[in-house]
Amino acid sequence: MQLTPEVKAQLAEQKKDCVFCKIIKKEIQSKIVYEDEKTLGVLDIYPAVKGHTLYMLKEHYPIMPYLPVEDFTHLFGLLPQLTKAVKGAMVAIALNIFIANGGAAGQQYPHFLIHLMPRDEGDGFFQFLFNRKEKKLAEDKVKQLQMTLAQIMQNYFLSSPQEWHSGAGGRPSYLQGIESRGLVLYEDEKVLCLLPSLNIAAGQMELYSKLEERYIEKLAIWDAVYLFTVGSFCASLLFQVAGAQGTNLLVKSGISDDNRDGRLCVYILPRAQNDSLQGLHWQPEQPKYNLDGVQDKIKEKMWNVKFRMDMAVEKKAVEKTIARSSDVVKKEPEFLSSKDEILRAIQRMQGK
Ligand SMILES: [Zn+2]
Repeated sequence: MQLTPEVKAQLAEQKKDCVFCKIIKKEIQSKIVYEDEKTLGVLDIYPAVKGHTLYMLKEHYPIMPYLPVEDFTHLFGLLPQLTKAVKGAMVAIALNIFIANGGAAGQQYPHFLIHLMPRDEGDGFFQFLFNRKEKKLAEDKVKQLQMTLAQIMQNYFLSSPQEWHSGAGGRPSYLQGIESRGLVLYEDEKVLCLLPSLNIAAGQMELYSKLEERYIEKLAIWDAVYLFTVGSFCASLLFQVAGAQGTNLLVKSGISDDNRDGRLCVYILPRAQNDSLQGLHWQPEQPKYNLDGVQDKIKEKMWNVKFRMDMAVEKKAVEKTIARSSDVVKKEPEFLSSKDEILRAIQRMQGK
């Protein structure tokens, strides 16, 4: 997204008091587990589960739609490797990735970050257990979601120098019959986006990878970037079409008490102030164990995490296509108000 001077000024103001910017500048002490030129991973000092890690860009951006392509690519491209390291260190069988965009979605500080939460069966964490009901979005809004998403993705492929896209592609066995669970909003060779009939919020979307059934850590860098790029488009659409005041992206991967089949899925959730999804949020609590031991274990597993620059050619192609498809977002007249919506979201986060 192109930042207006007004937004830039707001961001500069935010940065001055940002706790995470201070952590990044090492003005505030933290338990660092990973660091490279663009990103930083630290332990959450109020972990919801053991090994709870916060992964962020060193540059200050409040929410996902503001991330420039290069930073987005680096941050999300490294998620499979970071997941592998955190799970390995904690000997966990599953992991959640949790993202909050906006105060209504439970974002507490206006510095965009990603929660990595290793999970085990019987770990006692039930915040992400869904009590599904049938909450419907109006028919015209469903159509608008479907059409706009198709338009964004079509542009993405039209401007793509990659030759692989040829349509919806086949479905792996684990996605057979998925249309019986709702409406397929979008589908290509790599992903399938479902609007499920049973959900926890009207407009909730589910994004599945066609390349991997269960484990996010098995996705290649570019496939992870692709999955989250589509996820990010979906989240932006919820701001606009479904009138969301915030969004959560929640990834479930591997078997946990709230993910019995272990399926890899990115849940995209529209949020509003004081909505019925407050149960997603956990209370900050000091751990009863020493965080230093956890830090050492995770740090040890991070030694070979690396953003592979030898894929720079493909990286350039991805940058070009994402930049072009976000142009579509900008040109869409409905999206102009979305910018105001985001601006208001920032103001809300600042308590104005
Ligand atoms: Zn910051």
